[in-house]
Amino acid sequence: MHMDAHPIMTGGRENRILIIEDARTETEVFEGILRAHGYEVRSAKNGRAGIGIIGEWVPSLILLDIVMPGQDGISVCKEIRGMTLGHRPSIIMVSSRQDKKVIVDALSKGADDFIVKPFNEDELIARVKAQQRINGFYKEIEEDKKNLETLLAITLAMSATLNPPEVLRTIVAKVAAATGAARCSIVLVVPGHEGYVLASHEDASVRELRLDLDKYPEIRRAYETKTPVAINDMVNDPLMAPVKGNLRGLEEMSALILPIVFNDEVLGTLFLRARRKEKGFAQKEIDICRIVANSAFHAIRNARLFDRLMQERDTLQEIAIKDQLTSLYNHNFFYTRLEEEFDRAVRYDTLLSVIMMDIDNFKNINDTYGHRTGDVVLRELSEMIKRGVRKTDIVARYGGEEFAVILPHTSLAGAMEEGERLRELVGSHAYAGLVNDSITISVGVAAYPQKGVMNSGDLVNHADDALYKAKWGGKNCVRNTEG
Ligand code: GH3
Ligand code: MG
Ligand code: MG
Repeated sequence: MHMDAHPIMTGGRENRILIIEDARTETEVFEGILRAHGYEVRSAKNGRAGIGIIGEWVPSLILLDIVMPGQDGISVCKEIRGMTLGHRPSIIMVSSRQDKKVIVDALSKGADDFIVKPFNEDELIARVKAQQRINGFYKEIEEDKKNLETLLAITLAMSATLNPPEVLRTIVAKVAAATGAARCSIVLVVPGHEGYVLASHEDASVRELRLDLDKYPEIRRAYETKTPVAINDMVNDPLMAPVKGNLRGLEEMSALILPIVFNDEVLGTLFLRARRKEKGFAQKEIDICRIVANSAFHAIRNARLFDRLMQERDTLQEIAIKDQLTSLYNHNFFYTRLEEEFDRAVRYDTLLSVIMMDIDNFKNINDTYGHRTGDVVLRELSEMIKRGVRKTDIVARYGGEEFAVILPHTSLAGAMEEGERLRELVGSHAYAGLVNDSITISVGVAAYPQKGVMNSGDLVNHADDALYKAKWGGKNCVRNTEG
């Protein structure tokens, strides 16, 4: 016996073999061979005893002798096939004579294969393995069927209701049932460190419960990598080490987190925890949960909380990059964008210009009409500049009464023209609240490529110098540092 060629298989019902055989010596030969190949073996002297064992031990394969005193093998086979079992054990009939009629009879009564005594060890093992393979296929087909049923149920539920929370609740309930999960929820992820439970199978009333994502590194990982995260053993996984103190009671728990992704954007995750010894989630389960997770996308998008949070996020973003008074981009945003545009211009060898503007004698306007009217003028002027530039140009309020425009793909000459146009536009407008006064601006222009312009800072400095030149040149004019 070459033991190393047949590694001992452990655990699992798939290795259980029951021998039903009246002859003691035959039974011992079977037991010896099968145990040496790593199978877990039990035996029974007759059909009655065998059926008793099948009921409680549920073997995956039965070696069934045909000729036995009392109830013969054929009738035992028929009885086994009449039993309601969690799965269908394979039955290999063992016959001592080569009686074709008996064998055909056995196969028609539900036997899967037969072996003729005296048998050969290799043949026995080969036939047992063939049955195990077939059982594996059965199991897979069963699983596929179950999975398809789950998908179908979810699809039906989604088309039956347009109510997003209900769709999400159905999804978590079906997934939990299909995977036997102890916890299954859909978590909306908000950039930063927040998550919101939109639906949870263990408590249908849970909605919009806030989660601190710092306590859920597995969710953050799925969110950040946009790929499924499967953890076989939560308590001992390195990813969970920072929160190990919070994992009491989760021994032998596995976790599966599937990002809900659309157009490369992660909206949330389908989050599962289930008790799984050793192996964790099976690939099939992961695959089906992935499909389900993606089908949850629209329901999440349509959930009210989502709208609210996205609005809040947009508002916060606006506040961070825009100037309150004029709604133009602020100084910080101007620099960030200018750096980006400068890098792009260098990389793709394209043109880039900057226009700096400063209102002439604005102090006088404030002194004459008051600060409030000054503000109105700043707003009107901003609106005009915004409307006066091209769609691709970026207008910012650079300082109090100073403005800057980034002009991608524009030469110095082109930017000079645009500066001139803006100067005329601003100067010819009648401002609300100003009786006899008009407004003029001084304009400085710089471009890349230009001598001495190596980075975005140089570009701004050149535009600033040009603006200074315009002020010294009598204001209400456009200048650059070249001419
Ligand atoms: P110059 O032609 O040399 O630019 O003269 P100026 O008076 O425009 O320049 P100065 O820098 O001396 O004064 C700028 C003025 O702009 C002073 C300040 O009160 C005013 N200002 C800056 N920000 C605001 C604002 O938000 N609202 C109002 N109303 N005035 C502002
Ligand atoms: Mg000024
Ligand atoms: Mg100024």
